[in-house]
Amino acid sequence: MGVFRAMIARTFSAATSRSLRVCVVGSGPAGFYTAEKMLKAHEEAEVDIIDRLPTPFGLVRSGVAPDHPETKIVINQFSRVAHNERCSFFGNVSLGSSVSLSELRQIYHVVVLAYGAESDRVLGIPGEDLSGVHSAREFVWWYNGHPDLSQLAPDLKNTDTAIVLGQGNVALDVARILLRPPAELATTDIASHALAALKESSIRKVYLVGRRGPVQAACTAKELREILAIKDLYVNIKQDDLQITSADEEEMKNSRIRRRVYDLLSKASSSSQTHPSSGQPELHFTFFRKPDKFLESSDKSGHVAGVKFEKTTLKGSGNQIAAGTGQYEDLKCGLVLKSIGYKSIPVDGLPFDHSKGVVPNIRGRVVSSSDVGQPVDGLYVCGWLKRGPTGIIATNLYDAEETVTSISEDIKKKDLTSEFASGREGLLQLLENRKIKVVTFNDWEKIDSEEKRLGSLMGKPREKLTNWKDLLAK
Ligand code: NAP
Repeated sequence: MGVFRAMIARTFSAATSRSLRVCVVGSGPAGFYTAEKMLKAHEEAEVDIIDRLPTPFGLVRSGVAPDHPETKIVINQFSRVAHNERCSFFGNVSLGSSVSLSELRQIYHVVVLAYGAESDRVLGIPGEDLSGVHSAREFVWWYNGHPDLSQLAPDLKNTDTAIVLGQGNVALDVARILLRPPAELATTDIASHALAALKESSIRKVYLVGRRGPVQAACTAKELREILAIKDLYVNIKQDDLQITSADEEEMKNSRIRRRVYDLLSKASSSSQTHPSSGQPELHFTFFRKPDKFLESSDKSGHVAGVKFEKTTLKGSGNQIAAGTGQYEDLKCGLVLKSIGYKSIPVDGLPFDHSKGVVPNIRGRVVSSSDVGQPVDGLYVCGWLKRGPTGIIATNLYDAEETVTSISEDIKKKDLTSEFASGREGLLQLLENRKIKVVTFNDWEKIDSEEKRLGSLMGKPREKLTNWKDLLAK
């Protein structure tokens, strides 16, 4: 009997005709928290988690920085969910190409979309497609060994300066990875191609550039403290940029995070040396600069040589916005990482709010774009696709709680299981017909063991398999 037939047979014997068939699309934190809460709230639920990657855990695997192992511990909790006998993981199954949304909705009583934000906001300014300009997401996927970007090979050797656009926690992550001594990364699960490139890197100076001021920097205090603590780092923050207005005071009064970030930046500015010593790594916080265009190199056609910025001033009150002043300044560099936010991608048949980059929803119930405010039967959303690309892993716990509460309320109103849904066996049959190789959680555990074995040979917690062929060979 083939693997598929064996799986389908097992599924038939485990599920009863009254099972509530649920499919969660995406196996990151939003997907796993949703699955966990559905299994807890509905004893009759059978939950299948599908993911386009052969590996589970989404951003925990490909987004969290390698030097933040404590943040990845949540994987143990997600693995326990995957081992629940009413839960299955099917990797290498892509919504849109392996199976369409309308097919999934026919196969399952409930579909929860939790596939996150796999693209990037764009600036829409000249030169954005020059080589040497990458999104922070691409850079993060590269150093985290994501199979789609393990070949990125950002050039870290022909320049000593990188500009990071944006001042959120992702910007701090990429700046820290560029500036941290590579020896400190060698014992993490960083992809070995990235570690080798960082060891050879000539980048010594990183500019973290914000379009607003130090009060509005989007990072949080813990992450800021961490980057400021990098060994032997020269930190530059202009005293003039730290002048605050009454509108800034008001913003800080309303947000403890903003106050703490501002205080940390002020302290770092006053305690820093006046000049860097030769060869010292440098971190420059640059405020009130909005990217206007990317400058092309005159020696190397098609490659970035810097960024032209327009100086800004803050306008309004409450959440002040950056307004251009008509004064410009160029900053030279050989690498740019745009860290201005992730963006979700819609699939066919899914209502989508393109301006906000989210699926329109009411407390997790997807609402139709044509029939405004009308919930789409059996279709729900959770995580970044629901609320936009903000928040930490735990934010998804509350988000999943809200979505599952909406599902439970709807189930009370309408017995969804009275209608036939073929669920797991229907999905597996369809994937078999399409000759799609499904990666089960058991297969993932083989990948996991192999990565840990390879890692132990190199003094690392794991050495990730970073290409599709190796991942699908397990
Ligand atoms: P983010 O926190 O929203 O920061 C985006 C940054 O891009 C802001 O500085 C923003 O400035 C800037 N920006 C946006 N549009 C811009 C434009 N057109 N021109 C110039 N600058 C622009 O997003 P993120 O850093 O991608 O992080 C995503 C979420 O993941 C956040 O909630 C973050 O806290 C979380 N995260 C947490 C950790 C951690 O806990 N260690 C690590 C990584 C990520 P404005 O403020 O002026 O818009």
